[in-house]
Amino acid sequence: MKRDYVVKVKPVTDLCNLKCKDCSRCITYEADLAKKYVMSSEMVDELVVKSLAYCNGGNLRFEFEGGEPLLASLTYFKYFVGCVEENNLNGTKVSYQIVTNATVLTQEHCQFFKDYNFEVGVNSDGSKQVHNIMCRDRFGRPTFGLLQKGIKLLMQNGIEFFAVCKVNKTTLKFLKKSYEFYKKIGATRLDLRLSLMNDWDNPQSEKYALNAQEYFDFHRQLLDLYLDDKKRGSKISIKYFDDLIARVKGEKVKCACGGEGYCECQWTVDGDGSMYPCSFYMDKDRLLGNVMDVDLEKMYANEVMQKFVSASYKHHGDCFDCSVFDLCKGGCRRFCDRDGDSRLEKNVYCDGIKKFLEYLQTAVL
Ligand code: SF4
Ligand code: SF4
Repeated sequence: MKRDYVVKVKPVTDLCNLKCKDCSRCITYEADLAKKYVMSSEMVDELVVKSLAYCNGGNLRFEFEGGEPLLASLTYFKYFVGCVEENNLNGTKVSYQIVTNATVLTQEHCQFFKDYNFEVGVNSDGSKQVHNIMCRDRFGRPTFGLLQKGIKLLMQNGIEFFAVCKVNKTTLKFLKKSYEFYKKIGATRLDLRLSLMNDWDNPQSEKYALNAQEYFDFHRQLLDLYLDDKKRGSKISIKYFDDLIARVKGEKVKCACGGEGYCECQWTVDGDGSMYPCSFYMDKDRLLGNVMDVDLEKMYANEVMQKFVSASYKHHGDCFDCSVFDLCKGGCRRFCDRDGDSRLEKNVYCDGIKKFLEYLQTAVL
């Protein structure tokens, strides 16, 4: 059977050269940590062979993320694509994506991305002021200059890129400026990444995460800017808004997973070969197995995966009577009941989401 699917690969686990203020996961990169956290070539072999076998002639997309995936070195990436070329005997159509903070990007990386047609995403907090507040290196130094250098390289090489935009209290303050910045650098698309209000791993989460009212403010302001621009023929896209607008107009679209009302398997592999059903749920209770020992067919069938997917269909009672359920579908479970493994608790942004979706419907109809 042919299958289409995505594997998220974290080649250096959560190692990163930066220390963003609202990030709970990253581990400061030190050379002696590389042995423990960086994916070995044996793991790459197993991952590639097993992914191709599972896909069996369908579409397979490898999406590299971090930490900062480019810390894995260009040799790692060259080995990875070489391994795909060598082992792809069943006609699987393979594509690649990488999301990077762009601060260690070189001309050689750019050439490689062009050669293998990588889709490139750049992590960013926004304009210079907000980026320098939120995104520091491990010595506390601002990093906008490095980001700018990376973006310049991408532009000089004619590589189109999308921006992964952090959504938090500080980015809300600078939203208009940041939006202008994204347009100026030629980002083709904005993917919004919300800092967690209920991130128990991160004591800073209360400080940076939006509350429900701020959720509404952020999205309303951005939607206004976006719709104004669209009227003027702007090509930039914000997938979250595009999907919602299409749904309001009655079109059938596949939204990002939080907007579908259930979780699908988001194969995610860590630097030590451990596989999980979602990059937001990489803990021992959701471990599916190690790519060195188990094939993907067996991992998919195992109890952990089945429980992860089936539990996601449970929603808070209010969602079923909610006027915007068809647009919201309850949202991603990590904003609901993270430890309880379902959406039985209400989304922490519920009030803000509801207000925003009502606003969006009147704005686009
Ligand atoms: S937890 Fe959220 S991001 Fe992960 S699969 Fe479910 S809806 Fe998607
Ligand atoms: S707005 Fe709130 S109640 Fe309505 S579907 Fe979303 S989470 Fe559920």
